[in-house]
Amino acid sequence: ATPTAIMVGSGIGLNRGILFKSAAGLEGIAHLQVIGFDKTGTLTKGNPEVTDIIPYALYSKQDVLKIAGAGENPSIHPLAQAVVAEAKKELLAIQDVTDYSEEGGYGVTCAFEGQTLLIGNIKLMHLHDVDVKEAEQDFERLAEAGKTTSFVALGGRVIGLIALADVVKESTKEAIDRLHQLGLKTFMITGDNKKVAHMVGEQVGIDEVIAEILPQDKINIIKKYQDQGFKVAMVGDGINDAPALAQSDIGIAIGSGTDVAKETGDVVLVRNDLLDVERAIRLGRKTLSKIK
Ligand code: ADP
Ligand code: MG
Repeated sequence: ATPTAIMVGSGIGLNRGILFKSAAGLEGIAHLQVIGFDKTGTLTKGNPEVTDIIPYALYSKQDVLKIAGAGENPSIHPLAQAVVAEAKKELLAIQDVTDYSEEGGYGVTCAFEGQTLLIGNIKLMHLHDVDVKEAEQDFERLAEAGKTTSFVALGGRVIGLIALADVVKESTKEAIDRLHQLGLKTFMITGDNKKVAHMVGEQVGIDEVIAEILPQDKINIIKKYQDQGFKVAMVGDGINDAPALAQSDIGIAIGSGTDVAKETGDVVLVRNDLLDVERAIRLGRKTLSKIK
């Protein structure tokens, strides 16, 4: 590789908001065959909003929102922040909770007025042996509508469901189309529900959807493709994505993402535009053809 070609290529990238952190990144991106995307915050805007609250037993919608708002308040997860924002919008006071803990890919556990409060997905409910029967039908209906739904359980029983919707970024579909035109295979990895993930996948025309994956298991999906001999990239924005970005041949971080993602990535998309993924690959290929 001539240093001049690399310097010119990196310089062009920088002008276009595509930061290659090393010469190896610029060369490696030219050889990609498979490219994976995180869903939330990468393919979608990552700013979910509460769309439905379904209370059970003697609880009201307000009760459910108030209790969930208290439990989600310490969390920085986008789903948590959306619940807190909705509670504040309804002018509900956010109470303090104790014994707070959060598990990636599951949700939040804490104590609210002396009772165990759980907010998260169905896996979190199963983990704590909470009976979800009463809420199952509503949950299925919401998932089919493409909504990510959190269960709220207090004292071992479900007191409500909170559904949230996130929207696909304007340029996502075109970005995926262009990658297919370059001959790449695309896939999505997400911790979200399968139905929701497949709805988003269809909307953007991605080749493969891999859902209900725990943060620590995202790395194995990348390894699986590498074991088959493919050069794999991963595009992500979150703390959870950092291990997968590190494992992939080329880690691509979204500029608006977390510092951890940006530190781990080989390439940073400063403008937060997914179309820059394809531009980066074309730039890499052009640079490489000048080298040869
Ligand atoms: P993604 O892979 O889409 O970035 P995460 O791994 O962050 O998603 O989360 C996966 C799933 O775990 C979420 O869809 C949600 O069901 C659940 N979850 C994680 N954290 C929380 C939380 N604070 N509140 C509610 N649900 C949560
Ligand atoms: Mg994300």
